[in-house]
Amino acid sequence: MADITVTMNGAQVTGRAGMTILELARENGIDIPTLCYLAELSPTGSCRLCVVEVSGSRTLVGSCHTPITPGMVIQTHSPKVLATRKVIIELLLASHAGFCWVCDRANECEFRRIAADMDIGLSRFQSRRRYYQVEDISPYVTRDLSKCILCRRCIKVCNEIVKHKVYGMGYRGFNSKVIVDCDQPINKEVCRDCGACIPLCPTDALSKPGAARVDRQGKPLIIKG
Ligand code: SF4
Ligand code: SF4
Repeated sequence: MADITVTMNGAQVTGRAGMTILELARENGIDIPTLCYLAELSPTGSCRLCVVEVSGSRTLVGSCHTPITPGMVIQTHSPKVLATRKVIIELLLASHAGFCWVCDRANECEFRRIAADMDIGLSRFQSRRRYYQVEDISPYVTRDLSKCILCRRCIKVCNEIVKHKVYGMGYRGFNSKVIVDCDQPINKEVCRDCGACIPLCPTDALSKPGAARVDRQGKPLIIKG
């Protein structure tokens, strides 16, 4: 593949045709936060946290789905980028109905970790939260969608890797929700116990009923008493 040279944060870096800005940044040790992107899934750009500044572009661009082009000048951590990421996290926190001090994932939640990395504790925005009943009728997965940040990772992994297509996105705007069928509780008729979605969830919205929590490598994180 042809080499492509761009300027990233003032330094010349070279990638290959077809690479995204995010991939090139990671290859060069530059950390761009994201709550939806995973290398093994196709990018959705849904969280918008990975935005960067590209010279000549009127708006910030999502680095997870924007390919590099020759001569591109990219700023991954400019003041404008950092301010935008901060607003995105604060808006997510303002609509997140979880309470960390009583949350099972409080010491390893990816969402909270990224917020902490950005020095964000509380949101400046007024809370506007969605509350849903916890769905715990499935023996395979418990869903607490009040904690869902709509990253779509569960939809993607179920569609693209497992190919069961259990989840979909329903409703619009603030009422958007990850649904099963026509917004039915998840049950063992549709979910086949692969557990693939659970460790990918960046919050505690998905968990395995009554089992130890696991990280992406399947290692236990918290053993319930
Ligand atoms: S999912 Fe994360 S941010 Fe939400 S309550 Fe639990 S620890 Fe806190
Ligand atoms: S349930 Fe978890 S993985 Fe699925 S969209 Fe919500 S936050 Fe993302």
